[in-house]
Amino acid sequence: MSSCQYSNEKVSIMDEKNIPIRTYQVCNVLEPNQNNWLRTDWIPRSGAQRVYVEVKFTLRDCNSLPGVTGTCKETFNLYYHESNEVRESYIKESSFIKVDTVAADESFTQVDVGDRIMKLNTEVRDVKVTTRKGFYLAFQDVGACIALVSVRVFYKTCPLTIRNLATFPDTVTGADTSSLVEVRGSCVNQSEEREEPKMYCGADGEWLVPIGGCFCSPGYEEKGGACKACSAGFYKAKSSDAGCFKCPPHSHSVRDGATVCDCHSGFFRADSDPPSMACTQPPSAPQQLISVVNETSVVLEWAPPRRLGGRSDTSYNYPRMGSGSISSSQLCLPCGSDVLFSPGQTGLKTTRVVVSELRAHTHYTFIVHARNGVSQASGAGAAQSVSVSVTTNQAVSSILAIDVTRHSLSLSWQQPDRPNGVILEYEVKFYEKDQKERSYRIMRTFSRSVDVTGLNPLTVYVFHVRARTAAGYGEFSAPFEFSTNSDPFPLIGEGVNSAFLLLSVSGVGILLLISAAVFIISRRRSKYSKTKQDSEEEKHLNPGVKIYVDPFTYEDPDQAIHEFAKEIDVSSIHIEKVIGMVGEFGEVCSGRLRVQGKREIYVAIKSLKAGYSDKQRRDFLSEASIMGQFDHPNIIRLEGVVTRCKPLMIITEYMENGSLDAFLRKHDGQFTVIQLVGMLRGIASGMKYLSDMSYVHRDLAARNILVNSNLVCKVSDFGLSRVLEDDPEAAYTTRVRRKIPIRWTAPEAITYRKFTTASDVWSYGIVMWEVVSYGERPYWDMNNQDVIKAIEEGYRLPAPMDCPVVLHQLMLDCWERERAERPTFSQILNMLDKLIRNPGTLRRTGGDRPAGTMLESGMGSEVCVSVLPEVCVPEWSVCEWLQSIGLERYRDTLAAAGYTSLDSLLALTHQ
Ligand code: AMP
Repeated sequence: MSSCQYSNEKVSIMDEKNIPIRTYQVCNVLEPNQNNWLRTDWIPRSGAQRVYVEVKFTLRDCNSLPGVTGTCKETFNLYYHESNEVRESYIKESSFIKVDTVAADESFTQVDVGDRIMKLNTEVRDVKVTTRKGFYLAFQDVGACIALVSVRVFYKTCPLTIRNLATFPDTVTGADTSSLVEVRGSCVNQSEEREEPKMYCGADGEWLVPIGGCFCSPGYEEKGGACKACSAGFYKAKSSDAGCFKCPPHSHSVRDGATVCDCHSGFFRADSDPPSMACTQPPSAPQQLISVVNETSVVLEWAPPRRLGGRSDTSYNYPRMGSGSISSSQLCLPCGSDVLFSPGQTGLKTTRVVVSELRAHTHYTFIVHARNGVSQASGAGAAQSVSVSVTTNQAVSSILAIDVTRHSLSLSWQQPDRPNGVILEYEVKFYEKDQKERSYRIMRTFSRSVDVTGLNPLTVYVFHVRARTAAGYGEFSAPFEFSTNSDPFPLIGEGVNSAFLLLSVSGVGILLLISAAVFIISRRRSKYSKTKQDSEEEKHLNPGVKIYVDPFTYEDPDQAIHEFAKEIDVSSIHIEKVIGMVGEFGEVCSGRLRVQGKREIYVAIKSLKAGYSDKQRRDFLSEASIMGQFDHPNIIRLEGVVTRCKPLMIITEYMENGSLDAFLRKHDGQFTVIQLVGMLRGIASGMKYLSDMSYVHRDLAARNILVNSNLVCKVSDFGLSRVLEDDPEAAYTTRVRRKIPIRWTAPEAITYRKFTTASDVWSYGIVMWEVVSYGERPYWDMNNQDVIKAIEEGYRLPAPMDCPVVLHQLMLDCWERERAERPTFSQILNMLDKLIRNPGTLRRTGGDRPAGTMLESGMGSEVCVSVLPEVCVPEWSVCEWLQSIGLERYRDTLAAAGYTSLDSLLALTHQ
């Protein structure tokens, strides 16, 4: 501070604490009109807008001064002058602006000269200084006794501070006492602005009203006003005021500052999964996929996967679905776009879907795929899917012409094997073969037959039939061709080959016909042997044919059983009632089986009670080992076995109508011939399958055929020794030490134990007889020895009552002494198929035949019987042959011309 321009003096005094201080003082109290000034040096403003002046001074109480008159004052004035000039030598009084008149709070009344203690006053005044770079201060004394001890000039700032993770710098306060300086903060390191951070710096240097602020960045959390990295095992995904979180289950972080935890191996996180979520896995496959075929729709239901992988977003898709025609190839094609899925095909949340608009008579495989949010990330596929194969309803399999005239055809057919619901009507489509399908006609009928009229004579027509259920039409049947007659009278018989008929109307045709005969007859002469050979060759050439494996070739019978049969948990079996007995230790029960993933089904349960020998166990289980190798609609199906607990059980499909012999006896005379032939066809089909697998049954008999509710016959009772040991019909013969069901067994098997498919064919002939006679006992009450003897002497069972001749002929063929002369099952099957297609051939019965047939008598060979199909013609007459091709009416013409035997016909030349 520069010295006072007027009469002030600089002196040293002692302060209150007796410390010597330097002061400026004046005490002209006795003289009037005092005007003493003391001015400071230039004080730089340094950005301040309001400065504070703290003055410390002492002041004498006027009253304490003896002799002082009214001139004495007890105040002084404070002035300021703003200036840019650092050294202004002279400043006019009037240039100063008064800040205030300052009075003492404390004044002292007497001077203790001895120890000169003073009362020190401190007064602070503030002044706005905004116009120049600095200023001067001045003190005016107007007659006081005053000593200026110190002057301190300062300004106020709001100090650097961190608020809400934002740094606010040291800030000079505003110019006015009420002014607030708005200050923007900046986010501390590793933090992000949440909302613009702001605060106000008050005039007194206090921060006011903090607004907004910052959050620590991902991977960091706030600690002591700063952002610190999350330590290993922790993470922070978002900038927020939250702290770091522990890694969620199945994840980890190894470095500090993790924003997300990495999944453990085998665990995944979907793109949409929050980092706070545990790492998860794809689901396992859906369980218990059940299909219910309903008309041409299928309801699929399944249970959720056993393992959901820790997620709740499982959905189901059908990424693949194939269809293949049952009758054609096994090739699977993706389903067409016309197939409807309800509620949808992908992204299903429900565990049920209805698939409709499927094609009839078609094999479908549905693959249900469970997915969740991490399926894609994990690349998991097949492990999450389960499939089921279903077959939609079957089409009409054959059409028969039951009556043919010049202008009409009466057709009949069987209902489809497994119609999907009640059949509402049939639709018959037909057209002239020559016209192809260019123009066709449609007829509808509620019954299984139709009379088609208004046809052209001698014309081949092609017919297809399809059934309609509530779900719509099924597939059309395969084409069946029938020709109308040229004859004005109805012809009883099959739909004949129109080529022959056309020839027959012209005389010239007969010759051509005869040359055809030469060829046909010469082929037929070889009877079964050629065809049999063919089929054997076929088998030989086809290495893909599955061959049956004898379980007795396994050292360990348990190994065989587990190779061919599924072990069933006994808890999934519910036994209901006893339906039959098997020997001493066994019984057959009906019940229900519920296997995981499948619908509950009715089953037959054959059990072997405790107390059995090893051999009995082995024999009992061998049946399952054998049955388990077969898969055919006419072979009883094995569901599985129970071997791990007692009693041992063999579980098979349940056949509602039980064994065929009892069933037929119960329904004596109640079936049409076509129905009986249908049953025989089923048995033949099953036997063909067995023979193709090189399995010889040895005990084929009606009692060992089971019948289900649809009259489907299935071959049952497998096993080797067991079959014959347990069969009540099996008896010891004098020649062999094994039991043999004499009445059903071929002579070479009885005599030499030569059991072959050909001996099964013999038995099949007996089964045919049993069927047509509605369960009659073969050879009635003849004893076994008599039977053996009679057979040896050429005696054969006669045709049962009302037996179509063709069927009896087929039986006789099966009972050929020479086994090579017997038909194969394949030929039998073909033959029965032809009979079914042409039921007219079944109309002729032997009627009043004698009660036994001696082969040597050649009975039937001279009588002009019915049309004899290809495989069952031992020796044809001209008459039979003509009838077989529908030209029976030319018999007399040919006879008149001397053609009375087929040999004579064979000798005929074209000329
Ligand atoms: P088996 O030992 O196979 O001859 O059986 C004895 C009897 O049990 C048979 O004659 C049938 O009456 C009955 N049976 C056996 N298996 C079944 C089945 N799968 N369904 C219905 N009944 C059966």
